[in-house]
Amino acid sequence: MTPQEFAAAYPKMLDWIHETLATYRRTARSVASMQFARLPLYFSDVLLQGTYCVPINRVPIPPLSSMGLERFTAFVQGDSDGITYLNTYFLKRRHVSNEALHFHELIHVIQWQSLGPERFLKTYAEGLERFGYENSPLEKVAYEAEDLFKRGRPVFDAERFVTAQLLRLGA
Ligand SMILES: [Zn+2]
Repeated sequence: MTPQEFAAAYPKMLDWIHETLATYRRTARSVASMQFARLPLYFSDVLLQGTYCVPINRVPIPPLSSMGLERFTAFVQGDSDGITYLNTYFLKRRHVSNEALHFHELIHVIQWQSLGPERFLKTYAEGLERFGYENSPLEKVAYEAEDLFKRGRPVFDAERFVTAQLLRLGA
C-alpha cells in the first residue's frame, strides 16, 4: 500500500464507517449499560458510557478493493468475531456475553481515540500488510492486554497501558 493509495482510500473508508455506524445506531447499546463486572476495573466510566456495542451475525468489513486497496482480500473475506470502528464495535451475537472479547474491542477503541482515525487506519492497514493479522502491532497490543485480563491479575489501567504501548511502537 503506497501513501498515495492510502490517501485516496482514506476518505472512502471514513465515509463507509460513518454510514455503517448510522445504519446500526438503533441496535447499538452503551457498554456501560451491559453491566459487566470486571470491565469497570480497567476502563473509565466515561469510556464505557461513550462506547457502543452492536450485536450482529456477521461483522461489517469495508469493501477495500473497491476503494483501491487490493491487498487485503483475506481480511475482507475473513469472518472475524469482532471489529471496532471509532467508538463502536460489532460483535457476533454468540459472543455478546464474552467479557474478554469486549475487553479486546475496548482496547481498539482507545487506540482509535489515541491515534485518531487517519493514523489508526494507516497503522492498522500497514500492520496487516506487513505482519499479517495476529502479528500486526495494534492487534498484538490488544491480544496482550486481553491475555492479562483473562489471567485476572494484575488489574491495570487499560488506557495507560495502550498509551504506553503506542509510544513504544512509535505510532
Ligand atoms: Zn482486534
